[in-house]
Amino acid sequence: MNAWDAEELHKSLFDNSPDGIMYCRMIFDARARPVDFTYLAVNKNFERLTGLKDVVGKNVTQLIPGIIASNPTLFEACGRVSSTGVSEDFEMHIESLERWFFVRAYSPNKNFFVAVFQNITEHKLIEKKAEDAKIAARNVFEDLQAEKQELAHVRAHVEAILASIGDGVITLDFSGRITRMNQAAQALLGLEGKDVIGKLLFDIFPIENEKGELVATIDRPMSVALSAGTSTTTSTTTTTTTTDEAWRRDLPRMKTIHGGFYYIRSDKTKFPVAITVTPVMLENTVVGAVEIFRDITKEQGIDKVKTEFVSLASHQLLGPITTIKWHAEMLLSGDAGPLNEQQRRFFEKIYESNQQMAGLVDALLNVARLELGTLTLKLEPTDTVSVISHVISEQKSEIERKNISLATHFADDLPTMLIDQKLLRMVVINILSNAIKYTPSKGTIDCAVWRVTKGECVDGRKMNVDSLVMKIADTGCGIPAHQHDKIFSKLFRADNARALNAVGTGLGLYVVKQIVDRFGGSVWFESQEQKGATFFVSIPLVMKNR
Ligand code: ADP
Repeated sequence: MNAWDAEELHKSLFDNSPDGIMYCRMIFDARARPVDFTYLAVNKNFERLTGLKDVVGKNVTQLIPGIIASNPTLFEACGRVSSTGVSEDFEMHIESLERWFFVRAYSPNKNFFVAVFQNITEHKLIEKKAEDAKIAARNVFEDLQAEKQELAHVRAHVEAILASIGDGVITLDFSGRITRMNQAAQALLGLEGKDVIGKLLFDIFPIENEKGELVATIDRPMSVALSAGTSTTTSTTTTTTTTDEAWRRDLPRMKTIHGGFYYIRSDKTKFPVAITVTPVMLENTVVGAVEIFRDITKEQGIDKVKTEFVSLASHQLLGPITTIKWHAEMLLSGDAGPLNEQQRRFFEKIYESNQQMAGLVDALLNVARLELGTLTLKLEPTDTVSVISHVISEQKSEIERKNISLATHFADDLPTMLIDQKLLRMVVINILSNAIKYTPSKGTIDCAVWRVTKGECVDGRKMNVDSLVMKIADTGCGIPAHQHDKIFSKLFRADNARALNAVGTGLGLYVVKQIVDRFGGSVWFESQEQKGATFFVSIPLVMKNR
């Protein structure tokens, strides 16, 4: 190759290199510090890579003002290379160009340098993204670790809570499979957790009602809570204490299933149980439930003793109350001589209060009898209309006193029924006296009795047997909607009823419900506050003696 060819080759390499190439003279200040450089030659790609035009003969500080402050390493590195002759590689970021370069600098002559550089901005961006992703992943990992630790803490707490609770606790998934069982539940039900986890609660632990019948899956508190998404609790008529009732009353949206429930252990023994089931909600969806239950054998025993005491005390009170009644009646009828106006008023007050006391004692006695189960049904052929008419006539004076207009509609085809007359009377008295009590003067009461055949509906309810239906509708104060579900609870009185009529025991409808249940029938009502109440009672025409 001759000299010309070599020069041509170098020029062509210089011009066609994909890298940028610049040949520069370094400028030092008086203290030999590199402060600028002059471009002596640049190749074609220089402009493309840097975006700088017509640079030859110009100084870099002129082309990129502020470059000394923003890129001191460029000057330091190129200064060293120019003065020492030792090549250096480095990366730099030119802020004003918003580009990254990889630079290889060498010195062909002292105080001169050649820099060959590539634009590595893309590569740097990818590197930065990768670094950011790495940092993000590390952060997520650290968060996960922290959450894992937190979860472990929560789990340990939950385990400790479950272990220390005396009541049985079973947690379930949304399909009713057991996911966890505390020690108390295992002890009460006689099975170890490991044997039941993952199995359906309904299969493993059956529940019976008071009559010894298996409770259907859909009627179990667990199913009610899972399907309705509402906390559900059981309330047995004989075992629920007054405090329990008061406590439940204050719970919002707590569904109550009335009736006695018994858990059957794996060895077929059983125990009475109080159950509360709370659904586990996640973003408004039921994902499972927690069932808490306790053996209420002891409470039942205590309740029985209490009820026996109430029964005994009520019996003892009957004698003196009757004696007071007779004597007050005799005094009022003038048997002990004429009374002046004031004496008459006082005796009337004594008579009235004694009557109230008699009513209360009577209600307590009935409750005690029903709860102790000592009340056996005395079925006798009964003309139901005459029982109802008789009750109406007994209440006539009060109906007239309040100027209430009462209408009756008795169907013609009512059969004679085999029923316990005394208990039927109690049902009618309680519902009718309530209608009178809670209806203001000049209101109206409508009383109807008719028969329905199996499959027919009454007030939207399908009758599953041929039944006698009684309806008593009034135009009184009605029952507030939020207290509807408590109306048949023992000792419950709605707020508006308390305000309207101080006299009342809250026992009447409880007794009605107990009796109608014994008849195998149903009692329910419809009411809106200030718009009256309509009570319905359905009784099977053919009753089993239970
Ligand atoms: P009470 O002795 O208070 O009447 P009950 O057990 O007979 O007790 O009734 C329970 C509650 O049901 C009453 O206190 C009242 O709040 C409500 N109630 C019953 N019947 C009626 C009715 N016809 N109209 C309005 N509220 C009623």
